Amino acid sequence: MLNRSLTLIVALGLILLLAWFQRTPQPAEVARTALIMGTLVEIKGLGSDENKINMAINDAFILMRQIEEEFTTEKGTSPLMRVNRSNAPVEVSPRMAELLDLGLQIQRQSGGAFSMGLGGIKALWRIGEETPQIPTRAELAAVLPDPDGEQLRLTGRMVTRLSPQVQLDLGGIAKGYAVDRALDLLRQAGIESASVNAGGDIGLLGGHGERSWRIGIQHPRRAGELLATIDARDQAVVTSGDYERFFERDGVRYHHIFDPHSGQPARGCQSVSVVADSAALADALATAAFVLGPQRGLQLLEESQQVEGLIVAADGHIVTTAGLKDRLEWR
Ligand code: AMP
Ligand code: MG
Repeated sequence: MLNRSLTLIVALGLILLLAWFQRTPQPAEVARTALIMGTLVEIKGLGSDENKINMAINDAFILMRQIEEEFTTEKGTSPLMRVNRSNAPVEVSPRMAELLDLGLQIQRQSGGAFSMGLGGIKALWRIGEETPQIPTRAELAAVLPDPDGEQLRLTGRMVTRLSPQVQLDLGGIAKGYAVDRALDLLRQAGIESASVNAGGDIGLLGGHGERSWRIGIQHPRRAGELLATIDARDQAVVTSGDYERFFERDGVRYHHIFDPHSGQPARGCQSVSVVADSAALADALATAAFVLGPQRGLQLLEESQQVEGLIVAADGHIVTTAGLKDRLEWR
């Protein structure tokens, strides 16, 4: 008798459990990677429809590759290089006009620290390539745009370079822009929860299920270790660091973020992390603050609306915006 009622209870329990599982489909997490813009891009999507997430991630990778093709300086035939070769006004896509417009705003806001015209400087150093070199002052001076002058005129979709030294290079902003566009696409595909991580430039859609996403901030001097974590949702967290692309000679580190006044690697910071509503904005501001150094860089971040940030200065000391303090967890 006892045995029979026990069996009944167990059976009933099983049926209830099964019904509960069927009522609440288990959210799947799909994570995929691809090599785009010279870095490993990881896209994660959460949701009940794995197929839908996979298709949206495919499309997001395709879109990011299209953006890479448009903004690359590595292929002489790219739309960006077409602008660089012309001395007359060039018509560009709405996408490029939008990105240049944002870049010019940050260029102005940062007093020229953020500069999209340093392609000639970058080509001289060849940082991150197989044979980097230290250019002479004269070589740098010959290709350095006037740091206080206007570099570019943008009227609608017409772009004009204002001096022959200006060689457009969007390396300081394009990854963030591509992350934003990928997130737009995922959102439009009906995904509610996603992250796009392009080599440390991270954009978030929603939270990680019910919780926030927990984002690690890389320690600039200890590879593979975190300095801190920050909880975020629907925001971007982007880091610029002197450890990303560099070479060392005679004990000196030469890295890829240049001071537009000298054409030399900027010396004020080890890294800058920026939290903002858009990854393109965070990307540009992180590069700009890096060039400005801990004091003026922090000021730039504090002055920007709905932007927070953390700066590791060249000597290792850390400053953060007031609004970020409570959101950081130190490691
Ligand atoms: P990020 O990692 O976003 O700080 O971008 C670094 C990349 O931006 C470099 O590899 C260059 O392509 C470009 N860049 C270097 N210096 C500057 C600068 N002062 N302003 C804007 N972009 C820069
Ligand atoms: Mg940047």
